[in-house]
Amino acid sequence: MERESLLATLIVISGGLVLQLFAAWPSHRLDDSPSRRLEVLSWCALWWPAAAALTVAAWLCGWALSQPDPVPGHVSGLIFVVATPFLIIGGRAVLRSAWSLCHSPRGFGIATVGFLHPQIVVAPELEQILDARALRAALAHERTHVLHRDPLRIWLAQFVTDLQWPWGTAQRRFTDWLAILELARDDEARAGGIDGADLAAAVLGSVRFQIRMSGAAATLIGRPEALPGRIARLLGPLPAGAAAPAIETPYVALTCALLLVWVCAIGLGLACGQPLIDTLLAINLS
Ligand SMILES: [Zn+2]
Repeated sequence: MERESLLATLIVISGGLVLQLFAAWPSHRLDDSPSRRLEVLSWCALWWPAAAALTVAAWLCGWALSQPDPVPGHVSGLIFVVATPFLIIGGRAVLRSAWSLCHSPRGFGIATVGFLHPQIVVAPELEQILDARALRAALAHERTHVLHRDPLRIWLAQFVTDLQWPWGTAQRRFTDWLAILELARDDEARAGGIDGADLAAAVLGSVRFQIRMSGAAATLIGRPEALPGRIARLLGPLPAGAAAPAIETPYVALTCALLLVWVCAIGLGLACGQPLIDTLLAINLS
């Protein structure tokens, strides 16, 4: 069998199994930490099933590097049957992402759209609903979405969540992150001098306007079910720690740690992958 075909099939099966296994893990209960810290933690929680799946894929790539092409021995056609459900889940995730890319979000009052060069778009009717202070607050909130490229992050987060379909725990992590994202952007705007009451007025004005929002855009109102708590939060004092500088270090440190893990996984696959693959596939590839 061609080495790359076997490798791709094994990556689909093992990656799919690991994603499903880790997706079932219950959501972490969030504490009262500053919103920026919670946003980092919930963002990482979205991705760790995918990081685990990529580690297994790296190990398989290491194993493939030690194999001749084509691989000797016979591989049962059963592995293609096993791979089929994971291919369907992956295909569904790709289709949903493509749909999101091809369809511009509509029905919003104010939102940040665009992946590489995000822009703030405001419905003309909303400018008539909001007073100057509320509009300034809404624009400040959306500017923080631009700064963090949130439409792209929402699109990627939706994709990795779809790869873990149909687990409700994965969907819960996604909706939790979306809610925390809005709180973090509120706090960031307020730390920049925006009054919480003005932002609350902007959110409520936008709710009156907004009909239905879909697609990978970062809106002002976020998840409707989180609105009551968010408005109460905006009308209270700015939470402690919200004005602290942005936390970028964990992302850099985590990325470096993951790269190191993947390099080690490739090395392990290269050095000792064959016995395990032989056992799993019940063949002798040597
Ligand atoms: Zn927002």
